[in-house]
Amino acid sequence: MSDYKRIESALIHGGIYGDEYTKAVNVPIYQTSTYEQSGIGETPEWEYSRTGNPTRAALEALIAELEGGKSGFAFASGMAAITAVLSLFNTGDRILISSNVYGGTFRVLDKVFSHFGIGYSIEDTTDIEGLESRITDDVKAILVESPANPLLTVTDLRAVAGLAAKHGILSIVDNTFMTPYLQRPLELGADIVIHSATKYLGGHSDVVAGLVVVNDDKLAERLAFIQNSTGGVLGPFDSFLLIRGIKTLGVRLDRHVENAEKAAKFLSEHKAVKNVYYPGLPDSQGYEINKGQAKNGGAMISFELYPNYNIRKFFKSLRLVALAESLGGVESLVCHPASMTHASIPYEVRQRVGITDGLIRLSIGIESIDDILDDLAQAIAESEE
Ligand SMILES: *Cc1c(COP(=O)(O)O)cnc(C)c1O
Repeated sequence: MSDYKRIESALIHGGIYGDEYTKAVNVPIYQTSTYEQSGIGETPEWEYSRTGNPTRAALEALIAELEGGKSGFAFASGMAAITAVLSLFNTGDRILISSNVYGGTFRVLDKVFSHFGIGYSIEDTTDIEGLESRITDDVKAILVESPANPLLTVTDLRAVAGLAAKHGILSIVDNTFMTPYLQRPLELGADIVIHSATKYLGGHSDVVAGLVVVNDDKLAERLAFIQNSTGGVLGPFDSFLLIRGIKTLGVRLDRHVENAEKAAKFLSEHKAVKNVYYPGLPDSQGYEINKGQAKNGGAMISFELYPNYNIRKFFKSLRLVALAESLGGVESLVCHPASMTHASIPYEVRQRVGITDGLIRLSIGIESIDDILDDLAQAIAESEE
């Protein structure tokens, strides 16, 4: 066991460190589906890899420790993690979700869980009083992201957790955009934290994975049951990749955020840019709330160009920043939420919540910030009409 106090060290030494048997400093990849048992009727520690696998267990212990929770669960994707959490609910239950929630979260509720009679409604979770007035008897949870995709809308996580506790319902936070290095929702009172570990936790755009963390033993027991019953578990190799990615989360995010702060400043001063959405800019929505619950503004930025700039040309002209889904990898990525990440949200809903056709979302990587800014500048210049 290593001795440390701070998260930068926990990223490297947390969870189950190394291998007791060989003293290898890395957790081995236990690429096995099953384990030999010593006799019938004796319950072995490891039985079958859907139920438990030592490499996955090391990752689950690590994310639990980093989020300040008791139990972690690893899934084959962020959506598998969200599906497992939504499987906690029953026919007739309703879940309040923030209006800028990830498109896939909206889709699974709208197109899959609706078949089982689990309802949802889209709410402005920045308005806590308004949100409280929406909590009727059938509402069993509030699911939020902060900052939320793609307008980087900040929700007061303490207030939402307080509201949920007051009404005896669950508060669920998708912490993908911040990671435990920048924000720890359980410490702010949330009941369940979800991650698409595909993004910053993995950090290298080479693995698709999801994680869930809780503090409560009863919830943990139910999630373990759902995880084993529905079976969307993360494999040993991908668990290893995540553990490996998480070790450098601190240094990566320090650089991601340093670059993002510079890019946000650059965009907000550019004559072609109409709006910049970045929670690290002092005049942004929820700046003070974000400061009170997260270390900084993270590394996601959205912006809109004035109408005399052609965004198709802008996307075509980029030479370093790649047009792609996803975010949180070392490479800078750009996407068009209206046609990509949020295409599953109906047009009218998109307009209502501000996901306009001119919105551009950037995941700022850890390349040289000068190269990133040069690329943005030349693409903006090319797109002027
Ligand atoms: C990507 C993402 C998800 C879905 O995760 P997958 O790993 O792609 O299944 C969920 N929530 C947020 C905020 C995301 O960015």
